[in-house]
Amino acid sequence: MEKKFVNLKNANRPNDKSKNYEKVIDRIEKEGVCPFCPEHLSNYHKNPIIAENFSWIATENMYPYDGAKFHFLFIHKKHVSTIEELSAKGWADLQELISTIIKEFNIDGGSVFVRFGNSNTGATVTHLHFHLVVSKGNQGSPILARIG
Ligand SMILES: [Zn+2]
Repeated sequence: MEKKFVNLKNANRPNDKSKNYEKVIDRIEKEGVCPFCPEHLSNYHKNPIIAENFSWIATENMYPYDGAKFHFLFIHKKHVSTIEELSAKGWADLQELISTIIKEFNIDGGSVFVRFGNSNTGATVTHLHFHLVVSKGNQGSPILARIG
């Protein structure tokens, strides 16, 4: 079976009238590569790496959710797609890097989530990555994230 690195069916963003995100995911699917593996990341992700440690990199999402003040991604450096593949060090490194970003950006509240495994999660990229999303608060609309 051909290995899938992205799920085009999850790339629809109701407010993205230009369909830019879908076009990017469609291109990645045709190229058959993992956009979050280190050797391909810079081809698809143009935001800088803000911080990193042994297991993870932290960067800002190129396609932040509507209403987000900040939308960071924590991308595991080694290609994994499920929670069970994370080591104890991987978890500790994640906690450390999220804390680094929270301090650096003076974040006093936010949401952290991850989708993993099969294609019924709403994820577009299967390579394991965590989200840290910070709302604009009273000035913005609720942030909606697909999780299934
Ligand atoms: Zn990968």
